[in-house]
Amino acid sequence: MTGCQFTDLSLDESILRALAEEGYHSPTPIQQEAIPHVLTGKDIVATAQTGTGKTAAFSLPILQMLKDRGKSKHIRALIVTPTRELALQIQENITTYGRHLSLSSAVVLGGVSSFSQIKALRKHPDILIATPGRLLDLFGQGHIRLDHIEMFVLDEADRMLDMGFVQDVRTIVSKLPAKRQTLFFSATM
Ligand code: AMP
Repeated sequence: MTGCQFTDLSLDESILRALAEEGYHSPTPIQQEAIPHVLTGKDIVATAQTGTGKTAAFSLPILQMLKDRGKSKHIRALIVTPTRELALQIQENITTYGRHLSLSSAVVLGGVSSFSQIKALRKHPDILIATPGRLLDLFGQGHIRLDHIEMFVLDEADRMLDMGFVQDVRTIVSKLPAKRQTLFFSATM
């Protein structure tokens, strides 16, 4: 898709406006490839390094699809990522791209008190960004329900394996509905 613009990607005007405000002119190759597939409900497996625009490659279609499906009181998109820094960066991006939409997000990550995270979960976010350990802790304590997840992103899957999160990821996947869309991103395969 040479010369592809964000306006060619079937994204809502409010998302396009946020992208224009950020000064994004055209989608990166991973965004051009991934966004149309995700918007048709397909699962994807993508090789993408940090810095290639992969966060928007999954965040933009998630925002679009949740907006199209209307309001709900459940977490419908779950993004699991290996580090606190990545989790915070993803939430920041989602807040930016979704600033003209009425969707909400929350982040749960380890190493800090869970008090404010639990408070944010009580507000029924549409999107949850999480590191694996804290996600399972809060799930085990009954603060998180995963039975309405429609879209699941596994970000930096190779780092997840390197950091010893395999069993946690298996457990998380086993709690998700069988009927869901899975977006798998890894720097290496
Ligand atoms: P990521 O690979 O998701 O970590 O993104 C790397 C950086 O590129 C981030 O700072 C994004 O804000 C920025 N970015 C993502 N997509 C685009 C785009 N289409 N045009 C310009 N910058 C972008």
